[in-house]
Amino acid sequence: MNSINISAPASVVARLRQLLNEYQHTEIELRARLRASEARFRDLLEMTSDWFWEQDAQFRFTYFSTGLAQTHIPSTELLGKTRWELSTNLTPEQWAAHRAMLDAHQPFRKFEYCIRTDAGEERWLSINGQPQFDERGCFSGYRGAGRDITERRRTGERQRLAAAMFEATRDAIFITDTERNIVAVNPAFTALSGYSEAEVLGRNPRFLKSGRYADAHSAPLWEVVGRKGFWQGEFWNQRKDGETYAVLTTISEVRDASGRPSHYVGVATDITHQKAAEQRIEHLAYHDALTDLPNRALLGQRAELALALTARRHEALALLSLDLDRFKEINDVLSHTEGDILLVQVAARLKTLTGDTDTVCRIGGDEFVLLLPETDQERALRVADKILAAFRQPFPVARHSLRITVSIGIALYPHDGSNVTDLLKNADAALHQAKQNGRNTRTFYAQEMNAAAFERLVLESELRRAIAASQLCAYYQPKVRLSDSQIIGAEALVRWRHPDHGLIPPGRFIPLAEASDLIAELGDWMLKEVCRQQAAWRDAGLPPLTVAVNLAARHFRNSGLVAQIQGLLAAHSLPPQALELELTESSLLEIGPNTEETLLALERLGVGLAIDDFGTGYSSLSYLKRLPLTALKVDQSFVRDLVSDPDDRTLAATIIALGHGHGLGLQVVAEGVETDEQRRILLDQGCDLAQGYFFGQPVPAADFVAGWIRQGFSDVQDAVELTEA
Ligand code: C2E
Ligand code: CA
Ligand code: CA
Repeated sequence: MNSINISAPASVVARLRQLLNEYQHTEIELRARLRASEARFRDLLEMTSDWFWEQDAQFRFTYFSTGLAQTHIPSTELLGKTRWELSTNLTPEQWAAHRAMLDAHQPFRKFEYCIRTDAGEERWLSINGQPQFDERGCFSGYRGAGRDITERRRTGERQRLAAAMFEATRDAIFITDTERNIVAVNPAFTALSGYSEAEVLGRNPRFLKSGRYADAHSAPLWEVVGRKGFWQGEFWNQRKDGETYAVLTTISEVRDASGRPSHYVGVATDITHQKAAEQRIEHLAYHDALTDLPNRALLGQRAELALALTARRHEALALLSLDLDRFKEINDVLSHTEGDILLVQVAARLKTLTGDTDTVCRIGGDEFVLLLPETDQERALRVADKILAAFRQPFPVARHSLRITVSIGIALYPHDGSNVTDLLKNADAALHQAKQNGRNTRTFYAQEMNAAAFERLVLESELRRAIAASQLCAYYQPKVRLSDSQIIGAEALVRWRHPDHGLIPPGRFIPLAEASDLIAELGDWMLKEVCRQQAAWRDAGLPPLTVAVNLAARHFRNSGLVAQIQGLLAAHSLPPQALELELTESSLLEIGPNTEETLLALERLGVGLAIDDFGTGYSSLSYLKRLPLTALKVDQSFVRDLVSDPDDRTLAATIIALGHGHGLGLQVVAEGVETDEQRRILLDQGCDLAQGYFFGQPVPAADFVAGWIRQGFSDVQDAVELTEA
């Protein structure tokens, strides 16, 4: 370019001035722009959490932007140092690799390592670096950006841990969406429930619940989760294979960033074993360890409950306090183990003597308490006597045959107390009295009851003698065919001609006899007497009849019964049709399954078997079908109001139809027919036979024959003289 000639024309000078001016302006503007750009860059660096760094050719830090301060790492400490001098992690090999890359002047990205802050905290950094060269192309160092990634790494770590925990935990975990449909389950869930993830995805976890337990939770559960964010409780669930298991489950709500529920997480711990242990502990707390009988605590609970029920129903209840006589002496002679064996056997025997609703408790060494609901003086006495009688059988302990007796004290609700404490106290007082009275006996708390019991005791011993002293006799009640009112049979009913009290009806002494072994003797006597009478009638020329004898359930358990009856029939040359046996419906349940053989043998023999007082028990049709029955006797209670009560009429008709149908094919007999109207209704309903005052009262044999003859056997009039003789 040519130099400027100062003698240049003024116009040129002005032009140059203008250019210079413009240039100066431009430079000012450029500087300003540069400053602005620098400020922007500075602001940027200050406002981001990232920072900018520079290193010289020996990789020593020469510069940090302010962003580093946010990591709480003071840049002053770093300046002049290399990265590996500062790091707290990475192996020498890893650093060697990094340095090799730097030595090769390579750019790098996302190189991660840790350094420690002032406070001693480790921070993870991630850096990118770019090698720098000067104008001549010589390597001058590195510059780049750094970022604190501690949080990101922690979150990542947590996620990895959470995933590992989800997979590895032994608790079953399920995750549902807000519709409560399963979206994920862990392996423990599959192990516990037996369902694979594929089988449960999309299903509501409620399908796991076993139907065995009341579902009290469900509705409040979700309400609580919504309100508190979680719910905890126990469930009984069902495995895929059908087995049930108990779980303690926590259901928690998971919210999204906006605070709305997005998922539910259920964590279930298997507590089946704990539950079983709890039940065992509960059982131990309420049972005696030796005999497994309920203990005093459980007695208290059951007694409270029974008392409340009894009071509401206006019934009676009995508490029996039992104590073995002279157990201490026996125990001293025996070893401890043998004493225990004896107690276990006593417990077992007491249990066989009581019913399902009764409670037998052991409340101390040789002390037992029986709680008998629905029990009045009568039954209390019967149970006590049954126990005394059962203790006559020795107990086989080790090689011994031990005889031991028991004393019993009886307290009755409401008579002897209105609460458990009083009743127990009074039963104990009565027990004390029983011991005073010489042991091996039972005593009522209230004296007047002892008096009544004593009277019964007298009666009982008298009855024992009455059989031997021929004070018993049989009365006969005619049984007629409804279609033509012909006498076709009779029922034999026992009477006791007491020398002082006159004729005692069976209602007063049969229960006594049933409570002891007397009932069997009485039955044997009746069987013999009826056979003898039948033979006498036959010998007198009277036509053959079927006479029914009432037997107690206990009798059928006697294995010799069939042979005995067979022997009697043979001895009196009677056909099997001469006898029929009556067994009440309520005692059917008592006879037990092993009597079926006896009943079948009777059927083979040809002796009929009638169900007495039918309609008062609870026998099932299928049970009746299994038994070899021949007749069914409709209880008096259904006949009594037949005329006035349409319900009873329906019931009677139903029983008759039942006896005839359903493969039973039984003869149906109506009991207690007192009027002609009753007779007509029963006839209309298709009933076969009837008994009752309308046709004839139970009377002595001679009177029975007289009535029988009036019915049309005048041709055997002569024979009557014979029978009465
Ligand atoms: P059961 O076997 O149901 O006998 C029928 C009872 O009803 C008899 O009472 C009889 O006298 C009575 N009776 C008959 N017809 C009528 C009537 O038209 N109206 C009314 N109101 N009653 C009538 P009994 O003889 O006092 O016998 C009562 C219960 O004693 C018998 O009931 C039976 O369970 C039992 N029993 C009687 N004799 C014996 C026996 O030898 N052995 C056994 N184990 N129990 C017997
Ligand atoms: Ca009967
Ligand atoms: Ca009856």
